[in-house]
Amino acid sequence: MNYQTEGVVLKSFSSGEYDRIYWFFSPQFGKINFVAKGVRKSLAKLAGGLEPLTQAEVFLVKGKKIDRVVGVTALDQFQEIQKNLEKNIRARSILELLFYLEMDSSEAEKIYFQLKQYLFELNKSMISLGKTDLLSLGAIWKIIFLSGWGIDFFHCLSCGEKLQREKKNYFCFGRGVICVDCLKKETENFFHLPIEKDVIKLLRFLVQQDLIFCKKLNLSDRLILTLKKLTKAYLDEIIGKKMLDLWF
Ligand SMILES: [Zn+2]
Repeated sequence: MNYQTEGVVLKSFSSGEYDRIYWFFSPQFGKINFVAKGVRKSLAKLAGGLEPLTQAEVFLVKGKKIDRVVGVTALDQFQEIQKNLEKNIRARSILELLFYLEMDSSEAEKIYFQLKQYLFELNKSMISLGKTDLLSLGAIWKIIFLSGWGIDFFHCLSCGEKLQREKKNYFCFGRGVICVDCLKKETENFFHLPIEKDVIKLLRFLVQQDLIFCKKLNLSDRLILTLKKLTKAYLDEIIGKKMLDLWF
């Protein structure tokens, strides 16, 4: 059976002497993989359209073990991202996240929409490094929430009260945010970090607002750095320190 789907190439690996396995994110099927036969030997036309960070339409044939790609039309190779090292590192880390994060395909369409919007915005020229970071952090948190790894940034995980600006709050990995009063009562010892009220506010914004609004925020470098550290620590927790950390 033949079928076709649009998507973005996340990653590829060589397989055996001549073949290559591709991981691909599609709005219809979520994360899928397929094999390209003899790509390295013949340098077939396929390979060019299947470089990671390519948005493409792929034509596949159902296989017993793995589906096989028989045709590809590259739709966008995001030239601006390709030639800008800072953007490239960030975009590739988003692809890595999609590759490593466990998810089912139920929200694939929404995740794909965010991915496309992120790459489209990042591909525009004249974005400062700070905005590039914010866009990338926004995309990461959107993906985290859509794939079921989200956290309640509004209520204390223990008492359920709305988090208050006046109180100190703590980020508890894999669980949520806890207020200082509840933390004092906790007998179980778990990994937690203090989380500033401005960071909570920013996280709520990133999760709730459209990705394009991230670019409009004017934040201090310090706040962005704090959010980066927290994000990296959380990613280490949910995908096990596999992500490239070149920009965190
Ligand atoms: Zn509490």
